[in-house]
Formats: sequence, C-alpha cells, structure tokens
Amino acid sequence: MNIPLIDLHAQYGELKQEIGKAMERVLESGVYIGGPEVEALEKEIAALTGARFAISVANGTDALTLALEAAGIGSGDEVITTAFTFFATAEAIVRCGAVPVFADIDPDTFNLNPDEVEAKVTARTKAILPVHIFGQPADMDALQLIAERHNLLIIEDACQAIGASYKGRPVGSIGDVGCISFFPTKNLGGYGDGGIVVTNNEELADRIRLLCHHGSRRKYYHEAVGYNSRLDALQAAMLRVKLTKLTEWNDRRRAAAAYYDEQLRGLPLAPPAVSGDVRHVYHLYVTLSKDRNRLALELKRHGISTGHYYPCPLHLQQALSNLGYKRGDLKVTELACSRSFALPMSPHLTREQQDYIVDKLRRYAKG
Ligand SMILES: *Cc1c(COP(=O)(O)O)cnc(C)c1O
Repeated sequence: MNIPLIDLHAQYGELKQEIGKAMERVLESGVYIGGPEVEALEKEIAALTGARFAISVANGTDALTLALEAAGIGSGDEVITTAFTFFATAEAIVRCGAVPVFADIDPDTFNLNPDEVEAKVTARTKAILPVHIFGQPADMDALQLIAERHNLLIIEDACQAIGASYKGRPVGSIGDVGCISFFPTKNLGGYGDGGIVVTNNEELADRIRLLCHHGSRRKYYHEAVGYNSRLDALQAAMLRVKLTKLTEWNDRRRAAAAYYDEQLRGLPLAPPAVSGDVRHVYHLYVTLSKDRNRLALELKRHGISTGHYYPCPLHLQQALSNLGYKRGDLKVTELACSRSFALPMSPHLTREQQDYIVDKLRRYAKG
C-alpha cells in the first residue's frame, strides 16, 4: 500500500468540480490580480481568525517579512524566536535587517519555552515571534506577559496552524499580527504559493497593504519602497472553495491523530503531547523516536512516506552561521531534531491506512 505523507490528490478529488468552476469563473472574469475573489477571501479569513483586517500576499514568507517591516522592525533590532521551525521564520527576520535570537523549546509541545524566551530579552529586543508548530498553538498567555513586561510586539507565525485556537481564541489574531501560508501542503493550501497577514491593528494593516503594492496607494505615485507581493485571483477563488471544508478537515485530522495516539500505546514512539489550553489542528503528526532513520527506511520499504521536521535546527544552519551559535546551545531543540518522526497525516487518511501503518510499526518494534 502506498501512503503519502500528505495526500493532496485526495483533497483535490473531493472538490474537483467546485475548484474547476471557481477557476472558470476567474478566467471568464478577466480580473487576475486583486478583485472580488481576493477581497472576498480576505473577508472570510478575517472572520475565521477573528481579526479586523486581512491582507493577502504572495506567500507565507512575505507575510512574515511584511509584518515585521510594517511593525518597524529593522537594523539593530532583535526578534526572539524558535529554531525548531521552517527556515522562512528566521529568513524573514534577517530580510528586515534584524537579528533572530533563538530560544529553546518545550520538550513536550515543541513550542517556545516562555522561560527561555524571557532569558533572551535584551535592550534591543523588539518582538517575540512564536511559531504554532505542527498546528499546535504556542503558550500565548505566558508569552504575552513577557511581551507586556518588556514592551515587545508579538508576531505569530501561524503558517502551519490556520483554524487552531488557544483558550478559545483563534491563532493569528492573538498577538499584534499573524502570518498564514497557503503553500499547497498547509492545512488550507492553494494550487501554488499564497499567504495572508491578519491583524486588529489598523495602522499595521494599512502599512502592510501599502508595502505589498509597491508602496503605492495611488497608481504611479509611490510613498514607500515596497514589494510586489500579491495573491492571484485564481488562487483566492480556489482557496475559497477549500475554506468551506477547513473546519471539517481539521476535525478529521484531529480524529486521525486521536486514533494514532491510541494505537501507538506501548510502542517506543512518543506521540505528540497536547497542551490542555489548545485546539491542535495537526498540520503534521510528529512523534519522537530514538531510531527514526531506520524506522523511516523500514516504513518506506512498505510504501509509507514519513517526514523529518526538521533535520537541522535553524541555529545550526550554514546560512545563519554568522550568528555564532554552536551545537549544544539549544539542547531541547537539537534532541527534537534528531528524533522527530512524522507519520502520514491528512484529512483523507483512512482507518485502513492507519491500521496498515500501525501494523508495520508494531512488527518493527517486535524486531
Ligand atoms: C510554510 C511555512 C512558512 C513559509 O510559508 P511559504 O508560504 O512557504 O512562504 C513560514 N513558517 C512556517 C512555520 C512554515 O511552516
């Protein structure tokens, strides 16, 4: 049996007709950048995340870069974040001219450890950038207390967590600004790149909107040097179709995760821990295994694809070597990187597929 890590083909299969109609609507309309589909998607994402404003952009990385830049973060500033994330989180900080400062994570949730964050605050710190890793919201109350004590902004990297919530509050609108990716594999993924920034702060929203359209409000007059970072109407129309399924699909991910949790009992594979305060949306189902590489090969032999998130933590990336970190600086992050083992997860994962995966894991454990 062949089981992909994330089954995008099955997602398309469920919505094929609606997606075809949405594409045709846009192609017939003659409006391909901006326009009614994009505006409608922005309103719908604002409603979903409980934010007053949503500004669509070209991808999640731009969402982060624009949010940081609009917040006035730049040269000489420090932004505290996690090294247990996709590279874009730190890339955006560096792109704005600021310095990423990495704090270690909690060993159970893989999210930023608030005590480690506070220990890294200096006079130059301007913001905390938590990542809701794998779809599980970070410890936002503790981070907000730190932000208040030191007068810092909170920029949420919610690229993996659309639809998740913390103490009933949707991610993205908890901090000052939230960044979401529509990369195809994300919980709400397009058929190409896309992203969106959400915020309750009108001034920030206005600045982001300005920056993503070449710093221009009036055609051919530019008040700032910005970016060309926009969402295509085609992507917006297709995302709107998928958005109608997001809650149901997130619930299906949660049900699949609960089944794994139960079936993995007794195996030398630690299921992901979930904080009591959150609604986790399982962008990925990441376990820890001391034997992850051999286990990955064994499952591959049976047609099962697994994932390694992330083989190299950000503080040890070559591109960031100028920051001066060394192995041993973030022990919990490094251990998680060496053991992380992601099992197939998607809304269309079937019981039969899960039973097949668990059976192979059990056989391997028996030796
Ligand atoms: C995917 C992702 C990004 C970047 O999003 P793109 O749309 O691929 O640019 C940023 N941060 C995290 C945590 C991500 O998973």
